[in-house]
Amino acid sequence: MNPTTEFASHRTSGHLLEVRGVSRRFGGFLAVDNVSVRVNRGEILGIAGPNGAGKSTLFNLISGVPFGPTAGEVIFDGRRIDQMPAHKIARCGLRRTFQAEQLFPTLSVSDNVAVACHYLGGRGRSAKTSAESALETVGIMKYRDVPAGEIPLLAKKKLMIASALVAQPRLLMLDEPAGGLNNEDQADLILLLRELQKGGLTLLIIEHVLSLLRELANRMIILSSGELLAEGSPDAVLSDPQVLEAYLGKAAA
Ligand code: ADP
Ligand code: MG
Repeated sequence: MNPTTEFASHRTSGHLLEVRGVSRRFGGFLAVDNVSVRVNRGEILGIAGPNGAGKSTLFNLISGVPFGPTAGEVIFDGRRIDQMPAHKIARCGLRRTFQAEQLFPTLSVSDNVAVACHYLGGRGRSAKTSAESALETVGIMKYRDVPAGEIPLLAKKKLMIASALVAQPRLLMLDEPAGGLNNEDQADLILLLRELQKGGLTLLIIEHVLSLLRELANRMIILSSGELLAEGSPDAVLSDPQVLEAYLGKAAA
């Protein structure tokens, strides 16, 4: 296959990310079932749905971390990435954070980001300069010498974002970035995410805090039992009777 031709053939779509009919099977169980979604350049796409709907798995399939899809295609900026190893996908300009806190608690905040930079193969500027610029961007420079395990929850969330930003991605995928935050901290996080979007970043955000998606997302999708249940503006999607039923149904179960 000629990679240049392949690149050219997908480029006309204009979407930064195109997920085409991806599935992930675990034994007899389909965690993600034939999901297709397109993400425009510069938009924030919100992803919601009941627990176990396949949201985090969809992030796995797109980022290749820790695994890709068992069926379907993922096209990022005109290149097919679903068959690439995860480190190559990252180099295309796509980063994700994880739902669980992922940091080195005894290392300083600054060293956490420097480690991420080194691991991601940051080039050009030194790891330290890149780390400080990422900390500046998310607004946690004042904690730079503090062990990451000792900083407030909001700062930890921002540290995870900084560790992803240090690779200068074009698409940032956040898995429940607001989990556990109070209203004031959520508002602060919303401001940061909006700033990142203004700076040209495209964002995919999985979130249970629907008010955050209502405020931030240009469009939303809802997953339920591995399938795409709804897609549209936050207001339309969050008032869709099918969506309400999927949430209430799970809550009542
Ligand atoms: P969500 O993030 O929407 O809460 P997940 O994507 O984490 O849901 O999980 C979707 C479903 O896939 C769940 O039923 C989960 O148990 C299952 N699942 C996820 N990862 C694995 C795995 N590595 N092996 C087996 N089952 C998995
Ligand atoms: Mg999840």
